[in-house]
Amino acid sequence: MNEFDLIEKYFNWNAQDLNSLGVGDDCALVSIKPDYQLATSVDTLIEGVHFPQNTSAADIAYKSLSVNLSDLAAMGATPKYFTLALTLPEFDELWLEEFSTSLKLLADQYKVDLLGGDTTKGKLSVTINVTGTVPKGQALLRSSAKVGDTIFISNTLGDAALAWNQLQQGVEPSQGLLEQFNTPKPQVALGQALLGVANACIDVSDGLKQDVSHILERSEVGVTINLADIPLSREVANYVQETNDWCLPLAGGDDYELCFSVPKENIDALKVIETELNIKLTKIGLATEQQGLKIEGLDKICQSYQHF
Ligand SMILES: [Mg+2]
Repeated sequence: MNEFDLIEKYFNWNAQDLNSLGVGDDCALVSIKPDYQLATSVDTLIEGVHFPQNTSAADIAYKSLSVNLSDLAAMGATPKYFTLALTLPEFDELWLEEFSTSLKLLADQYKVDLLGGDTTKGKLSVTINVTGTVPKGQALLRSSAKVGDTIFISNTLGDAALAWNQLQQGVEPSQGLLEQFNTPKPQVALGQALLGVANACIDVSDGLKQDVSHILERSEVGVTINLADIPLSREVANYVQETNDWCLPLAGGDDYELCFSVPKENIDALKVIETELNIKLTKIGLATEQQGLKIEGLDKICQSYQHF
């Protein structure tokens, strides 16, 4: 099978957005509504670096698209399109079938169209470029937190990191932890709901410690976080109690939750969002004039995920 047949067979899906022209021409064409901006982001996942060697094709596809959607969620953008660059060590029809089925399922769920891509031979890696739209001037930025804002985090932290930790030690993680590691749910609905409610937002991909610092630095504010306020699942709470390893939930990474700041006057609106989306939102601190991140009770330096 040549490259054109491969694309035709596995990646030529019908577009949901009829204002776009997808796979089959030299470029994809997209139209965009007036008064909207495009939000675009790219992420590469490499075998052995971002997912273990024995990860299923379905999980690789899911995570590759999901982590990109998470970046759109962080800006409050609505996912629209993506392109895919796939590098494969060999042509494997079963693998491709499983990969494209899983990718299409997630793409359909978030109504995001595959507009084109590229396939090459080499070490297994997946690059996805995702594009969404957001009303002009309303995107959630890292730089918009204000003194007095309350900082929140969605759901719990450390579940994926605990799964990874256990896998490396040859321990089979629980179903819940594995799902968080292999198929993290991008918080797209939350991001959209936060438009006009939150001031600043980021998705937690490299660990709360590092990612909340990006908000603090760009917004020129500070926060003091108490360890007791960090939302943990029962399993991660048990792990921390046994090991005192707070670095796992704070710097382990791969959470794909949203960390955001909300001004006092919007706290009631946030409570409505919490109920409507049936999501757990935890207050972890207040933005202060005194800059920098302080973590009360943390007695060691946690090494956050470093890409190099
Ligand atoms: Mg991000």
